[in-house]
Amino acid sequence: MNDKTYSIDTLCVQAGWKPATGESRIPPIVQSTTFFYGDSQVMADLFDLKREGFFYSRLANPTVDALEQRIAALEGGVCGIGCASGMSAILLTVMTLCEAGDNIVTASEIYGGTFNLFSTTIKKFGIEARFFDADAPAEEIEALIDDRTKFVFAETIANPAIVVLDFDKICALCKKHGLLFVVDNTLATPVLCRPLELGADIVIHSTSKYMDGHAAALGGMIVDGGSFPYRGNARYPAFNTPDESYHGLVYADLPVAFGTKCRAQMMRDTGAIMSPQNAFLTILGSDTLALRMERHSRNAEKIAAYLEKHPKIEWVRYAALPSDPHYALACKYLPKGAGGMMSFGIRGDVKACARFMESLKIATQETHVADVRSCVLHPASTTHRQLSEEQLAAAGIASNLVRLSAGIENADDLIADLEQALGRV
Ligand SMILES: *Cc1c(COP(=O)(O)O)cnc(C)c1O
Repeated sequence: MNDKTYSIDTLCVQAGWKPATGESRIPPIVQSTTFFYGDSQVMADLFDLKREGFFYSRLANPTVDALEQRIAALEGGVCGIGCASGMSAILLTVMTLCEAGDNIVTASEIYGGTFNLFSTTIKKFGIEARFFDADAPAEEIEALIDDRTKFVFAETIANPAIVVLDFDKICALCKKHGLLFVVDNTLATPVLCRPLELGADIVIHSTSKYMDGHAAALGGMIVDGGSFPYRGNARYPAFNTPDESYHGLVYADLPVAFGTKCRAQMMRDTGAIMSPQNAFLTILGSDTLALRMERHSRNAEKIAAYLEKHPKIEWVRYAALPSDPHYALACKYLPKGAGGMMSFGIRGDVKACARFMESLKIATQETHVADVRSCVLHPASTTHRQLSEEQLAAAGIASNLVRLSAGIENADDLIADLEQALGRV
C-alpha cells in the first residue's frame, strides 16, 4: 500500500496490515514478549539483521509493526518505529543522531515537553539545543549551525503557539549544510501535510493526539524518509563507522540507515516501544483520521471566525484565518485545512481565563488536545508553568492565552457554548 497512486483517505483505511488467507481481517493484539523458532540458524540470522522477523517485543512486535507500516505509508516514508509516547520518539531520535559535544538547532515554538527535553534533559548528556524564533530570517538560523550540528527541528503546526513551519526556508539551509531536517507533524497529521514531500528527512508523531484521536492510547512514531545521503557525510561519523555493538554494521551502507540504527541500537537499549494494546487502539483510531481531520478543520475555521469578531476576545491565532500572520504559509503548506487547534487571548487576566473555561459546558479543561472531544487549556498556569516569563514569551505564550482544541461535535453547538461562557467573563 505504499503505492503513491492511492490517496491519503484510502491509505488511512487500507495501509499497514495485509492478512494471509484465514487470518484476522484487522491486526490481532499480539500480547507476547517473545516468539517461537525451531531453527537456531534462523534465530542467528535475525540477530545479524540478515532476516526480518520478531524475536522480542522490546524491539519489535507484530501489532506495533502493523501501525508502523500504516503511518510510514501515510507519510510516504520507508520505515516507522512505534514508541511508547511522542516524547520517547523525540528522545530516541536525539539518541540515534547525537553524542556528547553535538548540538541541535530547534524552533523555540514547540511543545512544552519537547522544550524541557531539549533545554534541560539532553544537556545532561552533553547535547546542546540552540533555539531560534520560527519567524527569524534564514541567516539568523544559519548562524546557529556548526559542524557538530546534527539536525534542525520544528513542528509543522506548533503546539500551542500555532505557528506554521516555513518548510522552504529550513530545507534550503539543511540542503546547503548536508544536515537532517526533523519535523514533528503531530498537529497537522499526514492528512493535512506530508513533510517528507516538502524536504524533511525524518517525521515524528505523538500518536496520542489526532492519530489515535480518541484520547485512548499513548504513543509515538518516528518515520524515516529513507533518502538522506549519510554515506561519506563527515557530519555523521556514527553512520559511516562500524557499530561495534552490532557486529561492525555500517549504517550508511543499509537501505534504511536511520531506522535500522534507531531500532537496533536505541530501541534495544531503552525498550521505549509502543505496547501492542496501544498500537491496536491507534490503528482503530487512524482508520477515520482523514474524515476527522476534515471535520476538525471545518469546525475550527467557523469557531475562529466567530471568536475573532467577539468583543471579549483580544486576538485569535488560527492559521487558516486570513488575518493570521501565518495565513500565507497555511495556504501554501496546509491547503486542505489547518486542523482543530487554535489559541486566543481573553480580554482580562488569569482569573478571567479561569472563569471562561469553568463556564464551558461542552469543551472541558484537559491536559490533552486533538481528540474527538473539544477541550481547552490555559498553558501559562498548567503545561508551561515551569517556564520563566522570558521562556514563555519565546514560546509564544501570553498569560491570557487559552488553547482550544476543536473536536468533531456540531460547530453551532460549540459556538453557542463559547457564547454563553464568554457572557460570564
Ligand atoms: C503531545 C505532543 C508531544 C508529546 O507526545 P506524548 O505522546 O504526550 O509523549 C510531542 N509533540 C507535540 C507537537 C505534541 O502535541
